[in-house]
Amino acid sequence: MYCRVCEFKLKFVKDIKGEKTGELIQLQKCSNCGSYFSRIDSMDQNIDELPENQIDGYLNSERDVKKRINTLFAMLDGELSSRKCKKYLDIGCGVGWSLTVATEHGYESHGVEPEIMATKFASSKLEINVVNSYFSSDLFEREYFDLIVMDQVLEHLPNPQHVLTDAFKLLKPDGVFFLGVPPVDWSRKATSMSLNLSTDTVNKIRKNTHLKRLVSLIDKYDIFISPEGHINYFTVKGIKELAKECDAIVVRELHNNIYRAIYFPYINITTGSFILKKKLSNLS
Ligand SMILES: [Zn+2]
Repeated sequence: MYCRVCEFKLKFVKDIKGEKTGELIQLQKCSNCGSYFSRIDSMDQNIDELPENQIDGYLNSERDVKKRINTLFAMLDGELSSRKCKKYLDIGCGVGWSLTVATEHGYESHGVEPEIMATKFASSKLEINVVNSYFSSDLFEREYFDLIVMDQVLEHLPNPQHVLTDAFKLLKPDGVFFLGVPPVDWSRKATSMSLNLSTDTVNKIRKNTHLKRLVSLIDKYDIFISPEGHINYFTVKGIKELAKECDAIVVRELHNNIYRAIYFPYINITTGSFILKKKLSNLS
């Protein structure tokens, strides 16, 4: 079995109880980039059916998404604000909160989202343009966008390298790509109950009603708790490897907790947000 990022060999780490089926799911780790993966047998996305009725999480995320995207725009302001006819794309945009912010900032805004109800909400309630589909670069013109956002998407995909490479086809040569994934760092690994304790022990702790409040807090910060939904856990090295495959480079890693839920704010080492740009080495 091989890494979904750099194709090095994977090493079995442990079994984790799946959050949906309760079955044991294998967690594997790449011997090169250190990224973790689950459900490594599934390499292709099942794109026969679009998901439906999973809209609540999207609806509830309005405040967080808007805050996050507004902060992103504030950061990129100097670079992108002077451009005319700016184009924005959010891949996996949910109901499209980020598109409303981008429109306010003067962008022509587009989104892609597989969830059926979410796209209906986007067009009927927010009056914004979201394509109801899994992402493919065929949906848009090549090199059309100044800014592409792919936030909390890549950790779900069995073929992250393929999807990211495809997405980069739509970015202008001088465009900006924002990639957000759940952060994997030593502190999160150290505090993950799913990673560090045996499945039996985790089950026993969960069943103990006296520990209910403590467990829900621990679960909140346990990055390996959903091995069926989150199947990729990228390290910084893993993201840099992915960028290389796209002929791109990571120009900025955001370790600031503005971009993340506050977690160990006094250490302030959360990772997971990256600004990528195309390499322009062949320009003459
Ligand atoms: Zn790897």
